[in-house]
Amino acid sequence: MSNRRNFIKLSALGGVALLTQNACSSEQTSTNEESNIEPIIPTSNKPIVVSTWNHGLDANKAAWEILSKGGSALDAVEAGVRVTESDPENMSVGLGGLPDRDGNVTLDACIMDHNSKCGAVAFLQYIENPISVARKVMEDTPHVMLAGEGALAFALDKGFEKKNLLTDKAKEAWEEWLKSSDYKPVINSENHDTIGMLAIDESGKIAGACTTSGMAYKIHGRVGDSPIIGAGLFVDSEVGSACATGVGEAVIRTAGSAMVVELMRQGKTPQEACIEVVNRIIKKHDSIENLQVGFIALDKYGNYGCHSVYAGFNIALRDNETENLVDATYENEWE
Ligand code: ASP
Repeated sequence: MSNRRNFIKLSALGGVALLTQNACSSEQTSTNEESNIEPIIPTSNKPIVVSTWNHGLDANKAAWEILSKGGSALDAVEAGVRVTESDPENMSVGLGGLPDRDGNVTLDACIMDHNSKCGAVAFLQYIENPISVARKVMEDTPHVMLAGEGALAFALDKGFEKKNLLTDKAKEAWEEWLKSSDYKPVINSENHDTIGMLAIDESGKIAGACTTSGMAYKIHGRVGDSPIIGAGLFVDSEVGSACATGVGEAVIRTAGSAMVVELMRQGKTPQEACIEVVNRIIKKHDSIENLQVGFIALDKYGNYGCHSVYAGFNIALRDNETENLVDATYENEWE
């Protein structure tokens, strides 16, 4: 691996002991007598929330409002990523997201809880907060994923408002792109891509959420990794959770987030697990030109890690002691 760099760069916001295992990591998971699908998780670093990119700082604030008052991780991750979805300035998630090549804003999102219950929407149009539709899919249907017109009909039936998500700014960018119509994934362009968020609440329960408008100027109908459980997001309360950002096709090919969690189950730290899956992705591609992918992992004890193919990925962290932006370690500098 050329230019391999496994060092840690901490943001100007302050230091944090990234990538070190907490002392509690030898504790064992015990099982709740009343319900063996709800393990009691002995976490010392809780509550905690981690999310992708610098837009995660604002999203974490909303999540922390809930977590710091003893609220659930599931409510926290939903409320957190809704902030990013509703931000018209953010051009990669929800309202204001860059459209597909035909000018349609199409959204992908999923959510997963500590009981491995999950819900997702793919290729959803006209709904500002797809994460909340995903939660309704999880809670109000026997299904995991709804897509396209069916997802929209379901959302409208549930009372979500139909609105135009293509802002003037995104429309102008798309019209500019149309002049060359050169499709090239560009990640890190404004340093705010998909938001993925992982949290552990006061009671030790884990949840995650992931939401995006996907790759800018994609083919109409393209669905990325973000709404796919196991690719863009995975939670298993016996182990921990992981989420992904970057070129979704590469994440899907490697079952990225599920793989990170599985590697943690086998004893890797969150950081080691992220590094291994990033390297699997690199190995499986003839060229990694523009192939940015980053993972965040959070184990059940509140230890976290993050790693990406290229420099520039960062994560927002919030716990009882820190509110920080942390640069991920990475394999390559951009050329
Ligand atoms: N993973 C997203 C997708 O492929 C894009 C991103 O993270 O920016 O749709």
